[in-house]
Amino acid sequence: MQLSDAEIREILIRRKREKKRRLRRRRRRMLIILLLLIVLIFVLVRVIGHGGKRSDKDKKSADSAASGENRGIIFIDPGHGGMDSGSDDDNERYEKDDTLKLGLAVRDHLQALGFKVAMSRTEDEMVDRTERGEMANKAGAQFFVSIHRNKADGGGQGVEGFIPKEDDAESRLLGENIMHFLGKAGFEERTIRAGTLVSSAEDYEENAAAEMPSVLIEVGFLSSADDNYLFDNNLDKNAKAIADAINYTFMTLYEPEAAAEYEQMMAQTEAACEQIMKSTNDALSGASAAFDGTEEGTDSGGADPQA
Ligand SMILES: [Zn+2]
Repeated sequence: MQLSDAEIREILIRRKREKKRRLRRRRRRMLIILLLLIVLIFVLVRVIGHGGKRSDKDKKSADSAASGENRGIIFIDPGHGGMDSGSDDDNERYEKDDTLKLGLAVRDHLQALGFKVAMSRTEDEMVDRTERGEMANKAGAQFFVSIHRNKADGGGQGVEGFIPKEDDAESRLLGENIMHFLGKAGFEERTIRAGTLVSSAEDYEENAAAEMPSVLIEVGFLSSADDNYLFDNNLDKNAKAIADAINYTFMTLYEPEAAAEYEQMMAQTEAACEQIMKSTNDALSGASAAFDGTEEGTDSGGADPQA
């Protein structure tokens, strides 16, 4: 069948129009997706802004700490030190260095939350284990938190803690909270045990000496590459997790009104996060449906690499 020049021209014009229409449709879809993204970003900024209000509060606490007021005294004990290097990973990585680095960062976060912090050591020096507990007693600390790192032949993974063999509720709450908060920061959660690794009838010297709620927390395994990665790359996040857990435990035991407020805020944040996840999912499935529609429209019209 032969087509006249006029017919060919008409077909070409029709194709061009069709193409333009398709492009317009695509642009409209892209615009809708863009708008959805802008709405999402707006929601995110609002939620982050909410968090910002919290840090304003934190700043106020820091100011009150600087002016001499304080909510309480926390004793932070970076495990090992000096000649006692603790565990190592056979690669010049020593537990004593990790515990000091994390301990100092925890101190900074606690001070920002309005606590006074006493420490067993702030440099690479040897301190007797019983003396660490006694130092906390002398400082009049409300909590004793000893920071360590684990090691196991098979590698091992995660956070575990040891509290006094009496298994008192306050020490258990402190230990469980620190483990859960570190779990939220990315670590696997193991257990909080009363006693020592080998016996539930014995105590580590620090726990035996400290007269306040106390825990010896193992922040991941030195023998695990995954745990070392989490430890190094999230150092400040881990420090904040420990400080927040101490803060939350302190509120629960000594500031019940603040604890209730904190729990309400956490629930709101969680609800906002869930809402964001839902909106994102809806937007994504909407966007992919729009793209599927576009592709179906173009398939019959032939390949169109310009779009
Ligand atoms: Zn240790």
